[in-house]
Amino acid sequence: MNEDKTKVKNTEHDISPNHKNGTDNFCSKCGARLVEEPNNHATYRTCQSCGHVRYQEAKVAVTTAIYSHDKLLLVKRRYPPEKDKWSLPGGYLNPHEDPALAAARETLEETGLIIDNCKLLDVLYNPEQGGADITIVYLGVSSGGQLKAGDDATAAYFFQIDELPELAFSSTRHIVETLQRSILENRQEPGFGGENCELQSK
Ligand SMILES: [Zn+2]
Repeated sequence: MNEDKTKVKNTEHDISPNHKNGTDNFCSKCGARLVEEPNNHATYRTCQSCGHVRYQEAKVAVTTAIYSHDKLLLVKRRYPPEKDKWSLPGGYLNPHEDPALAAARETLEETGLIIDNCKLLDVLYNPEQGGADITIVYLGVSSGGQLKAGDDATAAYFFQIDELPELAFSSTRHIVETLQRSILENRQEPGFGGENCELQSK
């Protein structure tokens, strides 16, 4: 006896034949209609038939600050939002991807530089809708490669930290301020004194 089928039958009037695999409005488990219900201080689409909850995961971006000899590596954005402004190399985390490896992957794609050593610099919450909810920021050290813009970047360039171009996103400006403050306080480059994450190709 298939329990799910019974439940589908009971809610036949709510099932869309075009939405068998689940959409925003229909359950991916049984096909019945989903309704917004409060759950753990948030609201999630919940199946009225089988109780399946469509949890929404936070959108996570990773980004790498490569800072060396008073210069910071920035990339010029090929696409909106904030097209033609400059940001740190980065992008969205893929499902099941190690964020440090994702930051290294995005940096290689956009700048041609290989990152073999990184350290967590900051984790930012972005309340603005549309982009990433969370941005994980790494300090990276490049061990090789050749500087060349690619993928989502039309240019990649090391700028003097006190002569930066127009920056994209409040998160980029926040990171730059953090770096500048760290440099002023320590009178040295943001350090790698802590525990480093080893980047190994998988
Ligand atoms: Zn269901």
